[in-house]
Amino acid sequence: MTSIETIYGCFLKSTQVSTDSRKIENGCIFFALKGANFNGNKYAYDALKKGAAYAIVDEAEYATDDKILLVDNVLTALQQLAHYHRKQLGLPILAITGTNGKTTTKELISTVLAKKFKVSFTQGNLNNHIGVPLTLLAMDKNTEFGVVEMGANHPGEIADLCKIADPDFGIITNIGRAHLEGFGSFEGVIKTKGELYDYIGKKNGVIFYNADNKLLEEIGEALPKRISYGKENASFTGETIQSPPFIHVKANFKKGVLYLNSNLIGDFNFENILAAACIANYFDVDPLKIQQAIKEYQPTNNRSQLINKGELKIIMDAYNANPTSMAASIESFLENLKGDKYLILGDMLELGEYSEDEHTKIVKLIPEDLKSSTFLVGKEFTKVNTGDSIKSFIHVDELCAYLRSEPIKNGNILIKGSRGIQLEKVLDLLN
Ligand code: ATP
Ligand code: MG
Repeated sequence: MTSIETIYGCFLKSTQVSTDSRKIENGCIFFALKGANFNGNKYAYDALKKGAAYAIVDEAEYATDDKILLVDNVLTALQQLAHYHRKQLGLPILAITGTNGKTTTKELISTVLAKKFKVSFTQGNLNNHIGVPLTLLAMDKNTEFGVVEMGANHPGEIADLCKIADPDFGIITNIGRAHLEGFGSFEGVIKTKGELYDYIGKKNGVIFYNADNKLLEEIGEALPKRISYGKENASFTGETIQSPPFIHVKANFKKGVLYLNSNLIGDFNFENILAAACIANYFDVDPLKIQQAIKEYQPTNNRSQLINKGELKIIMDAYNANPTSMAASIESFLENLKGDKYLILGDMLELGEYSEDEHTKIVKLIPEDLKSSTFLVGKEFTKVNTGDSIKSFIHVDELCAYLRSEPIKNGNILIKGSRGIQLEKVLDLLN
C-alpha cells in the first residue's frame, strides 16, 4: 500500500486534485472515489490517458500503471492527505458550521479577511467529507488564512471534519431544526454542531459566538477563549438599520461607529454580517476595509438574492429551506417589503416524522389576507389542510402551468423552498 508521504509527493507535483474523471485537467492527481452507483477505480487508467499525472485507487486490479497508486481506501487517503497538507502549511484555519447561513457567512468572512490576508475558502457549498478535504488541498504555501465550511446531517460528522481540518478558530452560526431525519432529534442537532466547540476547546482555540443566541452562549460556556457579537452585552455589537429591501448594520468599532451597507436581503443576514465584521475586527482588518468589503459583496447564489424583473421584485431564496430559515425568510419578507406580496413556498425536505407538524407551523405563519396570493409546492405542503384560498401544487411544473395562464404582473414575490423542489423553474415565467 502506498504511504501518505508518497501520495503527498505526487500531490505536490500535480497541478490540482480531481475526483471526477469527466473533468480531468492536465497534470492533476485523480482520486478514484466510489459512490452508491459508480466505482471511480474503473476510470483511473482513462484519467491518465486524459492527462492526469497520477491516479489513486483502492482495487488492486485497476493499479495497472506505475502512475496509479494503490491505497486501502481512496476516500480515507484523500482525507488523510488533506490533513497532512494542512499540517504542513501550518496556517490558521477558521471553521464554520451551523444550521443556516454557513455559506453566506463563509463568503462574507472570506471577503472581509481578504482585505488583509491571502484567503483560501470553501468553493460553493463543498462542505462535506469530500468537500472539506478538497477545500484544504486547494490551499497552498501562499495561503495566509483558511476558511472552511462544515456541513452535517448526522451525529459525529462535525467531529470527523474537525479531525481533518484541525481548525484553530470556530463559529457556529446558529442551531435550528434541520435534517431532523438524520440527526434523530433537535438534541442531536445541538450535540453535532457542538462538536466544533469541543474540538476548538481541546485545542485551546478561539470561538466566535452570537451572544443574542442563548443556546450558543450556553453550549460554549466552558470555553475560555470566546469572542461574542450581538445586539448588546457582547464584545462586538451592532444593530440593524432597515433600508428595504437591503440589510445594513450599524457596527460599533473601538474607533467609532461605522455603517456596514450590504446587498443582502432578509433580517437574518444581520447576524451573518455582524459575525463577519466581528471576526475581521478580531484579526485587525481596518474597519474601513471591512465596510468596503461588505458593500462589495453581491450574492449570486439564489440565497437572499433580489432579482428585479419588469414590475416584479423577486426575493430568490430557493437555495434551501428548513423550518428555521423558512420562518425567518417569511417574517422578514412580510415586515420589510411594501406593496402587493406573493409567497411561493416549496416543501422543506428531510424532516422525517416532524415533517407534517413543521409544514403546518409554516402555513400558520401566513397572514389571512395573503392566503389568496400564496402558492405551495410539494407533497408535504399538500398534506396540510390549508383552507380554500391557498393554492397547492404537488409539482413545480403544475405551478408553472398555472402561472402561464394566470401571470403575476407586479408586486413582491418571495420564492423559498428546498432545492429538491426546483422552485427556480418559476423564475423563467416571471417577467
Ligand atoms: P447548507 O446547509 O445548504 O450549506 P447554509 O447553512 O450554507 O446552507 P446559506 O446557503 O448561507 O446556508 O443560506 C441558505 C438559506 O438560509 C438562505 O437563503 C436564507 O434563507 C437562510 N439563512 C441564511 N442565514 C441565516 C441565518 N443567520 N438565520 C436563519 N436563516 C438564515
Ligand atoms: Mg452551505
